Amino acid sequence: MTPKQKSKRLRRKWRAIVYAKSGNRCAYCGQVFPTEQLSVDHFWPSFLGGTDDPVNFVTACLPCGKLKAHLPPLFFRAHREALAAAMQDEQKRFVAVQRDESND
Ligand SMILES: [Zn+2]
Repeated sequence: MTPKQKSKRLRRKWRAIVYAKSGNRCAYCGQVFPTEQLSVDHFWPSFLGGTDDPVNFVTACLPCGKLKAHLPPLFFRAHREALAAAMQDEQKRFVAVQRDESND
């Protein structure tokens, strides 16, 4: 087994452990999701010193994981609703621009 395959297998194992420990509950919105709608997130982002140690991983639903990206968890929790609304507005603007450009 190559080191890359070994690392992938390890990540899969950690992922299963992180999901099982959380009961498939997203650490940010608190809702329970089926496994295929979950991701593993660094609780403390790498750039703030968060490590790849399994204790630094939490379960995140796909929307929260995408929204949180590299934000520090406390900041994300405090602003989750506002970030989601801002992102939806941005997406609407993007779609409107795409529509206008395709009508040219
Ligand atoms: Zn969530």
